[in-house]
Amino acid sequence: MLPAATVKQLALDVGFHACGIAAATPLTADELGLHRWIAEGNHADMRYMERHVAMRHDPALLVPGAQTVISLLLGYKPSCYMCGDNRIAMYAYGDDYHTGIKQMLFRLIAAIRQVQPGFEAKPCVDTVPVADKHWAVRAGLGWLGRNTLLINPTYGSLCFLAELVTVTLVDSYDLPVANRCGDCHRCLDACPNRALQSGPNGGSRLDARRCTSYHTVESRASRLPESLQRRGYAFGCDCCQLVCPYNMQAPVSVQIGDAQLSELQSLEHADEATFRRLTRHRALNRINYAQWQRNIR
Ligand code: SF4
Ligand code: SF4
Repeated sequence: MLPAATVKQLALDVGFHACGIAAATPLTADELGLHRWIAEGNHADMRYMERHVAMRHDPALLVPGAQTVISLLLGYKPSCYMCGDNRIAMYAYGDDYHTGIKQMLFRLIAAIRQVQPGFEAKPCVDTVPVADKHWAVRAGLGWLGRNTLLINPTYGSLCFLAELVTVTLVDSYDLPVANRCGDCHRCLDACPNRALQSGPNGGSRLDARRCTSYHTVESRASRLPESLQRRGYAFGCDCCQLVCPYNMQAPVSVQIGDAQLSELQSLEHADEATFRRLTRHRALNRINYAQWQRNIR
């Protein structure tokens, strides 16, 4: 049986900011809330959300015999922000997190094998149907805020989430922590499109059909809705995160230099070849040049 304390220390050693561990018992329909969210059409054109719903509930459908989900968190709060027109959401300032975090997950697997030879785990970072934020809640890394994201008491919601799903048992599992949003509604009030709506039991739901982040990143439509209030954003939107007190007090995780910010700002005037070159290794490569042109127009 794997010692949980050792796994957590190894996770910090490879560079993650926090690690929690949950038993891989399936998420309940109430916990995930996915059926209802989809039935209401809140996922807009993100048809991939309709696939693998059962797997999103039950990690054993992804890794047969799964016993444990090791949930990992990496903060991304930058040292400075873009402002003005054609802004980019903070999570996309740096290198493509999929690549960097995958490498960290492989390093963590290798480190755990030093303690437990033969250890195997499925590394998950956004590209497999695992309900990241719900596993992070189960693993005690935070709670679901009214911005519908995981809120970690230290790093707020400005963090990437990843998992190792494994058949290996761990000697102790974490428990969820209490929701500490309290009476705060700042994120709901800050959304210029009313995409965040209060839900039952003090929760909330995100309607992607109204969300700048959805329209500028996920939507392939040739035009953005006329009614969309973007507050200058051309890729993603941070309006509901910037006002969150947990994000305000979060430590800076990534130092951003003037050169990097000016490179991002130069995208506004980039031709297609330059756009491709500058975004090749960034999360910005989620969109193509035509989408970028649509967004900055
Ligand atoms: S990302 Fe922007 S548009 Fe979407 S819910 Fe948050 S504030 Fe609203
Ligand atoms: S802004 Fe307030 S309500 Fe929204 S997630 Fe942060 S603490 Fe919770």
